[in-house]
Amino acid sequence: MAAGAVAEAVAAAETAAERASGLAALADATSSCTLCALAEGRTQVVFGTGDPNAKLMFVGEAPGFHEDKQGYPFVGQAGKLLDELLAGIELTRDDVYIANVLKCRPPGNRDPQQVEIEACEQHLFKQVALIEPRLIATLGNFATKLLSGRPDGITKVHGEPRESTLGGRTVTLYPLFHPAAALYTPAMMKTLEADFARIPGLLGAEGTDKIGPAIEVAAGEPEAGEAIPAGVGVPSHDLAVDPDEQLDLF
Ligand code: SF4
Repeated sequence: MAAGAVAEAVAAAETAAERASGLAALADATSSCTLCALAEGRTQVVFGTGDPNAKLMFVGEAPGFHEDKQGYPFVGQAGKLLDELLAGIELTRDDVYIANVLKCRPPGNRDPQQVEIEACEQHLFKQVALIEPRLIATLGNFATKLLSGRPDGITKVHGEPRESTLGGRTVTLYPLFHPAAALYTPAMMKTLEADFARIPGLLGAEGTDKIGPAIEVAAGEPEAGEAIPAGVGVPSHDLAVDPDEQLDLF
């Protein structure tokens, strides 16, 4: 589909079928993107996956080694943890939409460069415009800073929803620690779980047919950003750390 036709599809999508077809057209158009140099080293574009009508969208940083090979976001150990966290609020990947800021893997999983972000962000903005999620959970420092337009790091702002304008639309951003960061830093795991448990409540009671019941965060959980004493309350996720997971997520 030509770029103009994709833009029309984005503007016109109102029904579930229109969103799905618009997103499919956008994925098709993006699959051959050469707007930045990352096109040269990629195996494939990792566009995103999930429900085109999702009320909850997750945005990570960029594809890693496994994502580049398989064509899906969050397929490594961090992806398994994300699956577990979703299951904890009675959701699956089919209920949400998952994408990254960049659609192609930076070599060696290095940080995205500004020129790459500026080239690629239009794809993400179109995804958001089509899906119209109620809540966008930004996973990790990088996606949070980019989408919020603020310099505050994830350690300071995680678990704090705030409105933001993205691609001309007002959405609620909800910064979360990146699952890979939680794998590398067990003390973050409890905080990530607590922040995740607030998602059903943030999505609200209205139109929550795909949203599980709100999960109470137990009294005594650490405050956002509070250090957890060694050996206390560290969850038992048995997920081996993969050296190909992205590291710069703090
Ligand atoms: S990273 Fe984005 S802008 Fe760069 S080639 Fe891939 S899809 Fe295009």
